[in-house]
Amino acid sequence: MRQYSLIAPAKINLYLEIIGDRPDGFHELAMVLQSIDLADKIDIKAIGIETIVVRCDHPEVPADSGNLAYRAAALLSKQFPDVFARYGGVEITIHKRIPVAAGLAGGSSNAAAVLVGLDMLWQLGLTRSQLQELGARLGSDIPFCIAGGTSLGTGRGEKLSPLQDLEDLYAILAKYRNLSVSTPWAYNTYRQQFGDSYASDLDNLESRRQRVHSGPIVSAIAHRDKEKIGQLLHNDLEKVVLPEYPQVQKLREAFAAENVLGAMMSGSGPTVFALTESRERAEEVASAVRGKMADTNLDFWIAKFNPSGITLA
Ligand code: ATP
Repeated sequence: MRQYSLIAPAKINLYLEIIGDRPDGFHELAMVLQSIDLADKIDIKAIGIETIVVRCDHPEVPADSGNLAYRAAALLSKQFPDVFARYGGVEITIHKRIPVAAGLAGGSSNAAAVLVGLDMLWQLGLTRSQLQELGARLGSDIPFCIAGGTSLGTGRGEKLSPLQDLEDLYAILAKYRNLSVSTPWAYNTYRQQFGDSYASDLDNLESRRQRVHSGPIVSAIAHRDKEKIGQLLHNDLEKVVLPEYPQVQKLREAFAAENVLGAMMSGSGPTVFALTESRERAEEVASAVRGKMADTNLDFWIAKFNPSGITLA
């Protein structure tokens, strides 16, 4: 086969706790990650010449080595130079549906799809954990994007413990079209403002990690208790992003005022989401919030929780 099409789903965070600093300069996190069926489609095609070409229909997505999908292909070609020489180059076409710089891991999911797709195209025979290990070198969310579903992520978010699949849950997502939040800014600002509360030694770090492992949100997921999950949504980054971006705060309040299971900002934002148990209810909430906010610059999506990560289209 000389061509594959893959589905690359977005993710939301149901929980994001910043535990402390790591020696590598990143933050130690405890997160619950959830795939949703808002997804990009990635076409991967073998081309004769030994080069990597990226095409994307979205103006804000780079089509050069700045693209995470390009970097995933470059990493594999460097790792397996003989295979690259034998099979030649690759053309990667990204059909963007996931909003960009939105806290939904769009770039990471594209990179995850390229790793999975090239493994097939180049017949590398890598295991999922080998692909995840390679992905972790490019971005902390990539290992999760490969596996998908519902997972607890610790470390930088790349150490995954799969959790119970959550079925029949819907997310209404909303994002101001021209607003993006820099992920490094959000984490650095958090460090400046809340660094005092960081775990200061290894024991303390481990006990805070364990507290999430055996904590209420993981238990609510294990029991598929949707009401509880909604009540326990948590994201430390809201503490720095919401005061800086009042319109995101207002959007979150508008969702929370509806009869929803819960509402929160995803990742470093600025996407806000609310959870419901049916698509009908999700549509009602979307139209109520759209009417209330009355802003033509605000986009809405309805997505279902997805039990898998990268799959063939
Ligand atoms: P995360 O939730 O992992 O922080 P995000 O959803 O906030 O990510 P992305 O959509 O992945 O953000 O994009 C972040 C930046 O990365 C964008 O400004 C974009 O220019 C760049 N980028 C590089 N490759 C891609 C890609 N394949 N898709 C989208 N953005 C990309």
